[in-house]
Amino acid sequence: DKKCGRFFPKIRKHKMAEETIFSKIIRKEIPADIIYQDDLVTAFRDIAPQAKTHILIIPNKLIPTVNDVTAEDEAVLGRLFITAAKIAKLEGIAEDGYRLIVNCNKHGGQEVFHIHMHLLGGEKLGPLNA
Ligand code: AMP
Repeated sequence: DKKCGRFFPKIRKHKMAEETIFSKIIRKEIPADIIYQDDLVTAFRDIAPQAKTHILIIPNKLIPTVNDVTAEDEAVLGRLFITAAKIAKLEGIAEDGYRLIVNCNKHGGQEVFHIHMHLLGGEKLGPLNA
């Protein structure tokens, strides 16, 4: 892939996955308000909350976008949902409800290329595509 990228950049199929700030948060190399961590996932409060409750749940393993998920990731992807449900209960927002969002690439508005599930709630949310 490397060779291919060097000589034929236009036909290179796979970008090398580069670590983001989220890998540093997982390893606790930079501060974050981590509210949950286990062998597969880490959850922390979003630094620029878009709702009263705004938590990011991410795989410990670097998967850049939803386009990069494979069958091997089934367990970790399941754990993201299980963790979202657990945290929603802990935060006391499960009954009233909440929203889970995963953005992908440019049209989805993805800014950090390490898959993250947004957990938004604590108030009535606006339209999905506002
Ligand atoms: P997205 O646009 O889906 O890629 O979302 C990236 C999210 O990461 C945004 O909601 C940011 O506010 C959030 N974010 C970026 N850097 C940090 C950080 N250091 N700690 C917590 N949240 C962050």
